[in-house]
Amino acid sequence: MTTADLRAADREALWHPFTQQQGWSAEDAPIIERGDGCFLYDTDGNAYIDGVSSLWCTVHGHRHPALDAAVRAQLDRVAHTTMLGLSHPPAIELAQKLLAVAPSGDRQLTRVFYSDNGSTANEIALKMAFQFHKIAGNEQRTKFVYLNNSYHGDTLGSVSVGGIDLFHTLFRPLLFDGIRTAPGDVEGLERILAERGHEVAALIMEPLVQGAAGILLHPDGYLRAVRELCDKYDIIMICDEVATGFGRTGTMFACEQEGVVPDLMNVAKGLTGGYLPLAATLATERIYEGFLGRFEEFRTFFHGHTYTGNPLACAAAIATLQVFEDEQTLAALAPKIELLGELLDEHVAPLTSVAEIRRRGTMVGIELTDFPLASRMGHQVTLAARERGAIVRPLGDTIVLMPPLSISEDELRRLVAITAEAIAVATGVEAPVAAQLA
Ligand code: PLP
Repeated sequence: MTTADLRAADREALWHPFTQQQGWSAEDAPIIERGDGCFLYDTDGNAYIDGVSSLWCTVHGHRHPALDAAVRAQLDRVAHTTMLGLSHPPAIELAQKLLAVAPSGDRQLTRVFYSDNGSTANEIALKMAFQFHKIAGNEQRTKFVYLNNSYHGDTLGSVSVGGIDLFHTLFRPLLFDGIRTAPGDVEGLERILAERGHEVAALIMEPLVQGAAGILLHPDGYLRAVRELCDKYDIIMICDEVATGFGRTGTMFACEQEGVVPDLMNVAKGLTGGYLPLAATLATERIYEGFLGRFEEFRTFFHGHTYTGNPLACAAAIATLQVFEDEQTLAALAPKIELLGELLDEHVAPLTSVAEIRRRGTMVGIELTDFPLASRMGHQVTLAARERGAIVRPLGDTIVLMPPLSISEDELRRLVAITAEAIAVATGVEAPVAAQLA
């Protein structure tokens, strides 16, 4: 099929996620045919830097030889077999490897429960916390504390603990009640827990960075303070590392940076290096043991998806973790994070249409100054970036950059230069000369 035929068929048959389809038909979005390293190529042969790691997933780049080989080798054994009543080597090996790299300290994550995406990993943690208390006879502990601006996924349980009104308010009648608190407000949280802690099953949060809200950064020490309050009021702490996990903030997991080990930790996205859908909810032994009992006591965690722990996905994840070791990805990342900061300071910060740049590791949010909602300025910037050879994505009027950890310094320079020029062109301000792409 030609590109034109594919576009016509797309408009005829598809409904894209988080997309107003009415505008979609008027746009000639690239149809991506292949990828290589940090680049994506469309059906017309145009190359684009993958500036958002294919929605924050791609860690070591596209078509990494080790990941390709791992998936192919597993394909020669078996593509899928269930985890319900059976097990398989990649699921076992991956669980061991994940637990070995998980944050550790005053407690230990010792069990891995697989699922398929970030939303379900969070649903599972919420259900685990709820059932844990129910089994323990703490009938009154049914509520969840969550943060303003939080995003934990799009399934109804995850939406119930979501704090982004644009995505979540509409569905409120379908959701369970939670207790909402402001990120950074330790005293406010303590007041809530002192009064209502006995009703709380768990607290859920994205550690250090609230991604989907526009890369909002928590104040230093907040994560640690929340851990301490959860301990004080005997509340299960759930950390959603779906976006922050696997090197995004500069360390393997964001929790490490404040010496925090949650009771439940959820990972997805980068887990398979961006190859296949897989997620995991990691639990401490205390949580796990709460579910043990004779069958007729019905303490079983009655939850499981058809593709839970899919072997191809587990093979990709094992290879992803191996590449972290083999290529010393995190050590190589540190200078790139520094360079990214310098490039943003030099080329993007001076633009008069940029209100603020927020950054933690490779997670970047460039917030534009006020533009009328209908102008869809964030979106206009992504179109201008696309024309110049980079895929970036807006969250409202915040432009997000989240390149693969494997990006080279030259590619990083190019990505930032394109972004600066795209912002300048779309918003109609002068681009600093150094950022011109000529
Ligand atoms: N949690 C966080 C912190 C996320 O950023 C996301 C997705 O962006 C999710 C959960 C949902 O993950 P998924 O889209 O795989 O369901």
